[in-house]
Amino acid sequence: MYDVAVVGMGPAGSTAAYKLAKKGYRVLGLDKEHFPRYKSCGGCMSVKVEGMLDFDISGVVEDTVYSAGFTYRSARPIDIVSEKAVGYNVMRDRFDNLLMEKAAGAGVEVIQGCRVMGLTDTGDSVTLTCDGAAPYKARFVIGADGASGFTGRAYFGLDPREAAVSVTSEMPYDRAAADWEDGKLFIDFGSIPFGYGWIFPKNEFLSVGVAGDISKVGGSIKDLFHSFVTTHEVLKGLKLGRCDGWMVPSFYGFTRPLVEGRVLLAGDTGHLVDPFLGEGIYYALLTAIGAADAVSAALESSPDKLSQYQRWLEREVYPEFKAAERISNLIYRHQRLWYAMIEREPHIMQRFFGVIRGDESNRSFYDWVQSRVRSKPWRVLRSWIDSRRLPV
Ligand SMILES: Cc1cc2nc3c(=O)[nH]c(=O)nc-3n(C[C@H](O)[C@H](O)[C@H](O)COP(=O)(O)OP(=O)(O)OC[C@H]3O[C@@H](n4cnc5c(N)ncnc54)[C@H](O)[C@@H]3O)c2cc1C
Repeated sequence: MYDVAVVGMGPAGSTAAYKLAKKGYRVLGLDKEHFPRYKSCGGCMSVKVEGMLDFDISGVVEDTVYSAGFTYRSARPIDIVSEKAVGYNVMRDRFDNLLMEKAAGAGVEVIQGCRVMGLTDTGDSVTLTCDGAAPYKARFVIGADGASGFTGRAYFGLDPREAAVSVTSEMPYDRAAADWEDGKLFIDFGSIPFGYGWIFPKNEFLSVGVAGDISKVGGSIKDLFHSFVTTHEVLKGLKLGRCDGWMVPSFYGFTRPLVEGRVLLAGDTGHLVDPFLGEGIYYALLTAIGAADAVSAALESSPDKLSQYQRWLEREVYPEFKAAERISNLIYRHQRLWYAMIEREPHIMQRFFGVIRGDESNRSFYDWVQSRVRSKPWRVLRSWIDSRRLPV
């Protein structure tokens, strides 16, 4: 009998398992893959992650982001620079492997190549049924098996269609020959309905992708990806590496609790992904820590303590996601107008860098944009006139 079993050893699972093992609990970590494993992802995470881990991650950081080169449909480039670091670019196979190894080093019993296929909550423990292995038993379970894992979909019944769809590729490139400074990434607006295209430079690869709301993009995501990689200036002459399609399980304002009996969900499994940028690594770590705290409280006193996780999500995390959803409606519904606005007033984007860094919340950024629109409507009108000159 384990104190806790963690299903999935991505950033959420490894972080929760690590934190609980450090507290002295007997922790089991199961993952269907063998690490290091590939994960389709931009791999750009906010500098906010830094204070959340008590070990050094600099060995897997391939670039520290200070600026972004924006384009509209691969044209009209503008560079926006931040004085302070905004994010870190990592390759997910190396980053996730580091987190998994740290968890194992802290005492978590990690079993790789083990797919969880069933959970039975008997009231005083949970039995986990796995592919090709004897069942395991734990007092509590943290489901962290990602966007298409078992615990969110089959056990909690979260809707897989409520997500963004994406296509990504790792494009090999020569970093020394690149004609931009280290610390820059690229974002393209206007070419993906309710989404964007990105190029995040790493040591050997450009992590390239497009993602957009499934209901708006429909079946056209591959064509949109093809058009993006063949038109963006930075990608001219480069060859596509491996390509993958994946879901980004963005938050969609549901009211379904993420705690049920002795099981709770963290990270992508619970759709705990920012609906504007699709930022999920930071939230995987944040919610893993919240989940680990609740499990630890339940192990110390009583299983009811697990519900503190739900209350914490509703108080601390969902309001930010709801504000990000409002920002996303504002910007993605009017991408031409938005682009014309940041061309005229790049400090809007600089201020948004502060949101990514954690200096300001989505809520206050949204309120600030709203108040500018209301108090200076002529600026919006001027940008609207400019936007007529952007490609349709
Ligand atoms: C195209 C794309 C680009 C993205 N870009 C960014 C970005 O640039 N920055 C950012 O912050 N976020 C980004 N995200 C989001 C980010 O990838 C996720 O939010 C993050 O991986 C969540 O971590 P997690 O641990 O919850 O899930 P995952 O990383 O998906 O880990 C889940 C783990 O569970 C395992 N698993 C699955 N099923 C089972 C099972 N049945 N039994 C056992 N194990 C199982 C998997 O093998 C995996 O190791 C992107 C997502 C996509 C799809």
